[in-house]
Amino acid sequence: MTKEQLNEYKRILMNMLKDLQSETASALNQMSNDEANTLELSDTADKATVEANRNFLLRVKDRERGLINKVKDALRRIENGTFGICEKCGGQIEENRLDARPVTTMCLSCKVEEEEEEAKTWKWNRKK
Ligand SMILES: [Zn+2]
Repeated sequence: MTKEQLNEYKRILMNMLKDLQSETASALNQMSNDEANTLELSDTADKATVEANRNFLLRVKDRERGLINKVKDALRRIENGTFGICEKCGGQIEENRLDARPVTTMCLSCKVEEEEEEAKTWKWNRKK
């Protein structure tokens, strides 16, 4: 991979990180607003709505935190020169995969293999 390509991925990842962080911040804001509202509400149905909303936001936050970590990992890999290298087989990750999802850590065949393993485990668990 050329230095230009790496810089381009770095730029994309930095933007992703910025977006995710501001989304998380606004979700958090929303959550504390809801919290303040709950105190004033006497209606149980409304409280349930606020509660459901809050659970939803917590899930969003969790998912975003996971993504933020992935983006940070990808940026770290750019810094230490392992970006674009499959963590499973050590081969090159396909460029179209990286373009579609710069946080990806596996090449296509390893990813497919992993998904098949997961499907097997899942079936096996279901049989028990
Ligand atoms: Zn691989």
